[in-house]
Amino acid sequence: MSVVAESKCSVCGGSHFEVVHARALEGTTRAVLFVQCADCGAVVGALDFVNLGVQINHMKEDLQRTLEKLRAQFKS
Ligand SMILES: [Zn+2]
Repeated sequence: MSVVAESKCSVCGGSHFEVVHARALEGTTRAVLFVQCADCGAVVGALDFVNLGVQINHMKEDLQRTLEKLRAQFKS
């Protein structure tokens, strides 16, 4: 069994992280989330506010429902 290393903040060594809305972010109108150290606030990553994976899954489900309706119409 492999052991996964614990993620640590490179600034303070903390191991707790949080996701917050990026504020005072210049150069874009896109909503961005920061992954930051919960202890000192050092930013360690950024995420799009809109989760594309979730959006794509919703589109897939909508398409499947539409296809089922069309198939039902052609059978009758
Ligand atoms: Zn830190």
